[in-house]
Amino acid sequence: MERYSIINEKNSREIVLLRGSGCVYKKCIFCDYYTDRCSDEDENFRLNKAVLEKVTGIFGDLEVINSGSVFELDKKTLDFIKQVCKEKKINTIHFEAHYLYRNKISQLRKDFSDFDLKMKLGLETFDCDFRENVLKKGIKESSPPFLQKILRKLISFSELKVRQPKPCKRILSWD
Ligand code: SF4
Repeated sequence: MERYSIINEKNSREIVLLRGSGCVYKKCIFCDYYTDRCSDEDENFRLNKAVLEKVTGIFGDLEVINSGSVFELDKKTLDFIKQVCKEKKINTIHFEAHYLYRNKISQLRKDFSDFDLKMKLGLETFDCDFRENVLKKGIKESSPPFLQKILRKLISFSELKVRQPKPCKRILSWD
């Protein structure tokens, strides 16, 4: 599996696919990639370290994804992300997390306070009925303004971008 790549289009960045303990949610109907997991933290770190050592810092911007949420990565991997980003002079780091983890974002921001942290949430669509009864995303908010307000308050994101509502794609990011 290729776990390192470069995105050259808009918002050029390096991207790494790391491995964590596994998605705690696992109910999204379209998802099968949460099988990329391992309960052995040392094995995960060994793999993640090898992937992160490929990062060059060419864009000063790194996106870190895993088959789940950033909070499922082990501490040594998180520390190594910081180390690599400092060494390679990377200022911007992108992480993703399920809505279940919304109350942990502010601490993550403190832990990565040396960096400009961008968080992504897989909302998929503002159609709450479709999102919850078909896609089973586990985000029960039905009002977009309410959703924006509460997430901005809880997660301190600065800007909300809305993309085309395609299932199986992230449609919200706070950059
Ligand atoms: S939260 Fe992400 S990894 Fe977990 S089931 Fe949903 S899409 Fe898959």
